[in-house]
Amino acid sequence: MHWNVGKVKITKIVELETVGSTRFILPLATNEEIQKLSWLIPHFANAEGRLKMSIHSLVVETPARRIVVDTGLGNDKQGRKVPTWNNRKGPFLETMTAAGFAPDSIDTVLCTHLHVDHVGWNTRLAGGKWVPTLSNARYVFGKAEYEHWRDHSDDDDKIAVFNDSVKPIADAGLADLVASDAGLSDEITLIPTPGHSPGHMSILIQSEGERALLTGDVAHHPCQMAHLGWSSTADSDPAQSAVTRHDLFSRFADTPTLVIGGHFNAGHIRRDGDAFQFVALE
Ligand SMILES: [Zn+2]
Repeated sequence: MHWNVGKVKITKIVELETVGSTRFILPLATNEEIQKLSWLIPHFANAEGRLKMSIHSLVVETPARRIVVDTGLGNDKQGRKVPTWNNRKGPFLETMTAAGFAPDSIDTVLCTHLHVDHVGWNTRLAGGKWVPTLSNARYVFGKAEYEHWRDHSDDDDKIAVFNDSVKPIADAGLADLVASDAGLSDEITLIPTPGHSPGHMSILIQSEGERALLTGDVAHHPCQMAHLGWSSTADSDPAQSAVTRHDLFSRFADTPTLVIGGHFNAGHIRRDGDAFQFVALE
């Protein structure tokens, strides 16, 4: 599955797809409430009102760079809160290679934030140690985000995530810490979008007059465009995350900007009264 934005190509590599069982992350998104948002069905929810979501990476190819945005759950990880996210043995690297992206061909990894489902494939287990998976890449982390999880991790699973999927990258000298509004290349600029996590960043891609926005987890699902206040249980600052949704969606609504979520597929944002709708790309 891929999209072109001027000279930039974006390809989605899926690690996991789910329908339903998302109440733990979006408790207000009941089946009944989702069924009222008929524009979500069938692309983003099924007829029963169960949400369709995925954990995926986006490979962004510019004329000069080959970048992986977010790296999913990874294999062999331990200490995760969600039981099925432990000891995974998924074929993600094989899927990526089959799509034309061998791990050693990637020159940049960019994490929108440092949560468990966005950093997993940063590392893989080799000889009992966590080593960088994309061994030829520089890993770009938001400085504020990195320092937050390094200094303020408050529970065991977050500490485990930092120690097995982020710290080994820094220890290997492969981490570049950047400001959340940094420009990474001619085509790529970061946008600070705090709330879901303290240093969360979205990614703006611009080429030949065309634009794409990779939102990361500003919203976990397009239902949060209709209900800006439906913050996720994973949001570190739910009030800020609602403000960020309003500001970011206002900026890109009713424009031709291609929008791709951290957990949902591509579309366009449209204004709908005080809130927004998301129109799927066919
Ligand atoms: Zn996520």
